[in-house]
Amino acid sequence: MLGKTRDVVNVSAWRARLQIIIPSVLVCIVVVLSAFYADLQQQRLSLHESRHEVQQRLGLIRTKIEANINANTKLLQGLVAVIGTEPQIDKERFEALSESIFQFHSQIRTVVAAPNLVSAYAYPPERNSPFTDRPILQVWDRDALLRDMVEKGKVVITGPTHLNNGTQGLVISIPVRIWNDSGQMQFWGALLGILDLPRLYDDSGLLANELPIEVVITTDNTTTGEPAVIYGDINIRKLDPVRMNIDLANRKWTISAIPRGGWDAANDWSDLNRIAIFAVAALISGIVVWVGLLMNERQRNFQALHEREEDLRAMSHRLGVALESSRIGVWELDVATGAMHWDERIYQLYGLPADMPVSMEQWRSMVPDEDAREIERTMREAIDRKGSYTGQFRVRRPGDGKVLHMRTVGTSYCGGDGTLKMLGVNWDVTEDVILQDNLRAAHKQTEEQNAALESARKRMEHNALHDALTGLPNRRYLDQRLATLDVLDRPGQQLTVLHMDLDRFKEINDTMGHGAGDAILRNVASALRANVRDEDFVARIGGDEFVIVCFGYPGQDDFGSLGQRLIAAVNTPVLYNDHECRVGASIGIAAKTEAQLAAEQVLVNADIALYEAKRRGRNRVEFFNDHLRARTINIKQTADAILRSLGDNDFVAFYQPQFDARTLEINGVEALARWNHPQQGLLPPSAFLEIAESLNVVAQIDASILDQSLLQLTRWRAADLGIEHVSVNISAQRLFEDRLVSHLESLSLKPGSLSFELLESISFDDKADAVAESLARIRAHGIAIEIDDFGTGYASILSLIKLSPSRLKIDRQLVAPIVDNPAQRRLISSIIDIGRSFGVGIVAEGVETMEHAAILRDLGCHTLQGFALARPMSAHALMDFARKHAAERETLWQRTA
Ligand code: C2E
Ligand code: CA
Ligand code: CA
Repeated sequence: MLGKTRDVVNVSAWRARLQIIIPSVLVCIVVVLSAFYADLQQQRLSLHESRHEVQQRLGLIRTKIEANINANTKLLQGLVAVIGTEPQIDKERFEALSESIFQFHSQIRTVVAAPNLVSAYAYPPERNSPFTDRPILQVWDRDALLRDMVEKGKVVITGPTHLNNGTQGLVISIPVRIWNDSGQMQFWGALLGILDLPRLYDDSGLLANELPIEVVITTDNTTTGEPAVIYGDINIRKLDPVRMNIDLANRKWTISAIPRGGWDAANDWSDLNRIAIFAVAALISGIVVWVGLLMNERQRNFQALHEREEDLRAMSHRLGVALESSRIGVWELDVATGAMHWDERIYQLYGLPADMPVSMEQWRSMVPDEDAREIERTMREAIDRKGSYTGQFRVRRPGDGKVLHMRTVGTSYCGGDGTLKMLGVNWDVTEDVILQDNLRAAHKQTEEQNAALESARKRMEHNALHDALTGLPNRRYLDQRLATLDVLDRPGQQLTVLHMDLDRFKEINDTMGHGAGDAILRNVASALRANVRDEDFVARIGGDEFVIVCFGYPGQDDFGSLGQRLIAAVNTPVLYNDHECRVGASIGIAAKTEAQLAAEQVLVNADIALYEAKRRGRNRVEFFNDHLRARTINIKQTADAILRSLGDNDFVAFYQPQFDARTLEINGVEALARWNHPQQGLLPPSAFLEIAESLNVVAQIDASILDQSLLQLTRWRAADLGIEHVSVNISAQRLFEDRLVSHLESLSLKPGSLSFELLESISFDDKADAVAESLARIRAHGIAIEIDDFGTGYASILSLIKLSPSRLKIDRQLVAPIVDNPAQRRLISSIIDIGRSFGVGIVAEGVETMEHAAILRDLGCHTLQGFALARPMSAHALMDFARKHAAERETLWQRTA
């Protein structure tokens, strides 16, 4: 907006400048034109003057020429008058008379007498010869001239003619009449006077030395009609000369003249004058331009002044608007008299009528004492050092009693009259103060919240790292601890980890309820804490697993006794609901024997040792040692090899035939997995099954065995070997695998051709529903279920019968003793009875002798499987075996008998 005003101002400034520049330029033009005009006028005047002068001079010359010719003519006429009286005039008389003429000053050079118009003699006599006996007036208009002379008696003037002295002459011919004797006038002839022209010119002033004009004399009387030059330069006639006529009787001359050197030379209007004129013109123009510039300068100054004034006005307007909009009030205090002046806005701020007189007292009455004292103090200081101050105070407005917070800035200055004054502003900062108070409150609240959050975070962190039941650190905390231990290696202080697992805890939990389990766990936790040092770290890392991390025990023996102590402590019975509860514990111990061994690995080693302790019969302490390490390494290598073999299809199915107990016909086979180890050759399941289980790959092996078995089954059928049934072992993993069912759906099985053998030790109790559901689906696909290793687990026969198996396979541990032990025979017999009553077939495993076979047949067992009849064999071997067996079958019983 300001820029726009500036533009407008600039435009008007330019207009003002033009108003000065244009007249200046015009005046300059007029002055220059006037100078030109004056110059022109002056030239004209000067020309006129020189013409006049030339005219005067020329007039004088002309008059002199005319006068001289007249005078000469008169002189000659005097002689003519004398001759007229003397008709018999002779040469001598003529000479005598002529002589008298020459006594006068004239231009006559020669006088010639021409009786009858023929020259007869001349005077002076020495010039006689050219004039003797020659007709006079030898010119082109001779007849006219003679007529004028003879008939009219006129004087005739001719010439110029060349004279024999080389000059030119003018001939004046005067007719002469004489009185004859009879008294009559008679024409005698003529008298010629020859004038010396140069002399005539000279006498007429033409040849004067410093004649200021140039003259030309011409005559028109010529044969051609063209003017002919008599005297001077013909070119003068072209230069606009002053012209005059000289009348010579019958002739007319024109005399023309210009100033010597031409008109321009005569023009005394010199360049100097011209320069002077133009100098004056230039001077005037210069003055005008100078004045113009001065005016312009003045205009500019005026403009600048105007702009400054505009700026000032805009600034003061802005200040006004700013003060108005920011509601800043201005006050002034005369320090000496205490007189105060407030502007309108201050009155508004304090809520007072604008016409009320104000003073420091008035102000003080509205401000709390402590605020007023502080403000007055800082103000006095500012006055003392002639500086400024800032401050803030409260005001209780008299009108509405409202308390405002006012901010003030004041500065001292010397007024125009030399008095010291304080000028300042006030503005209302109540809202800011309230805002700040609120902010402070909010800040405080935030801090409190932060503190609450922090303690919550700490609580959560503690919870995240601790077991809620026992208050011990949990697995996470243990991992963190072990990680930091790796970093902070303590030299000389060996790290040792004890891993404890409770024995029989699950049973207590199952039989006495979770409350009892919890009580035992809490008891174990306090027992552990009570038996280790404060600096030892005790954590509960799983349901019934605890870990103790220790530093700096001197030797392995100490840990052995510590382990025993801990087991003893855990063994002490706990009373729960008046029942005594008691658990055992196994402990694995591992130490950080090498510096580069990670703490995490020490824990793993302790776990291995724990496993070993459990394996060796529980309630004992086992140390991690080189043997365990080697086994661990072996397990690791085996695991790697298993994983590789899975990809290479190195797990193959072997088949062990099963026989009808009475006829010994092959009524089926059991598929058994073998590992075709790349280096070690064929290995039995005991070499890989456990590790495969820990690797979670048994289901894959099962699937492969199933596929191979089904493929073989079709081949046996094709070969008509009478093998119509195959049993495959199925792991718990495989049983609960989703893929199993979808795989079974893809098979089109002949009912009764496939059975799944389920280990009795699969915990049917805790997953009874899931197992039942899975088995129902399997059965739905026409697959029979057999209970394997029956008699080794804890499951009751009745709970097993609920699974509707088609057969029970009696474990070989039960079968082996039957030859010598009648009680064992009775056990088998009752199992067979129960099976029969529920319609479940009985298979006997581990039939190692034909004696066993015979006993089992007699007890009513349906099917026999064992080394006595056939060992597990490859699919290929089975073909041969089956063929051979068909032939030899009859003789087998005889062999036994
Ligand atoms: P199992 O299911 O009880 O299989 C019978 C085991 O007894 C076989 O051992 C067999 O060779 C052995 N056997 C048969 N007759 C006699 C005998 O007269 N005397 C003696 N002492 N042993 C006899 P194998 O093949 O070493 O299998 C061991 C166990 O591995 C199997 O016991 C079974 O539980 C498991 N197994 C074998 N193949 C598979 C499989 O493909 N999948 C699953 N999940 N487990 C399998
Ligand atoms: Ca089996
Ligand atoms: Ca078995």
